[in-house]
Amino acid sequence: MEKILIIEDEESIRGFITINLKRYGFTVMEVETGEEGLQLLEKNPDTSIILLDIMLPGIDGFEVAKRIRETNQQMGIIMLTAKTTESDKILGLVTGADDYIPKPFSPNELIARINSLLRRINLNKTNVVSGVKLDREQRCIQKDGIKIELSPTEYGILSILDLAKGKAVSRNDILDEVWGLDFPGDPKIVDVNIRRIRQKIEDTPSDPKYVQTVWGYGYKWEK
Ligand code: CA
Repeated sequence: MEKILIIEDEESIRGFITINLKRYGFTVMEVETGEEGLQLLEKNPDTSIILLDIMLPGIDGFEVAKRIRETNQQMGIIMLTAKTTESDKILGLVTGADDYIPKPFSPNELIARINSLLRRINLNKTNVVSGVKLDREQRCIQKDGIKIELSPTEYGILSILDLAKGKAVSRNDILDEVWGLDFPGDPKIVDVNIRRIRQKIEDTPSDPKYVQTVWGYGYKWEK
């Protein structure tokens, strides 16, 4: 079931939200401060939505949203706003919130907003799942919204395969491009690195979907 985190310092509001979300079958976690919320999220990366109060003891809701977005674009953030001033809305958007609910709100309104955001999140997930992506800016792989680190050599190989746009690249061409024309070692070094890449990015490394072997020739990148 979808996991929802409530970050709200007012106990009565927290209790009210928790009861209603549980009634709809959501898994609910609740904390009083932004600091506790961020800690809990580290242990629960599968959280779908965060209901985030703005005025909190310690760091405020805007800061919490900003810090979540530094490492995670996938989680949904709904701000619980006591007052819906324009500046709150703008600051919320800048810091990465997806939606707002002005207090007080009814259980129906809350559930409707959550369901609407869940639909958008899950739509996004299916788009992302269709393939892994080589992130040229950060020189890594993005898979299902998760960053997979690559060594410079691994990045070099994937970069060449990616540029070939699905066409096979020979083992020798990979060797020349990544290790240089004067590389004195064994060309099998390419295969060793391919194996390591598969361990990192494939669902089943023994039956690779993304980095495919072209027998007697080399490799190709299927996205
Ligand atoms: Ca508050």
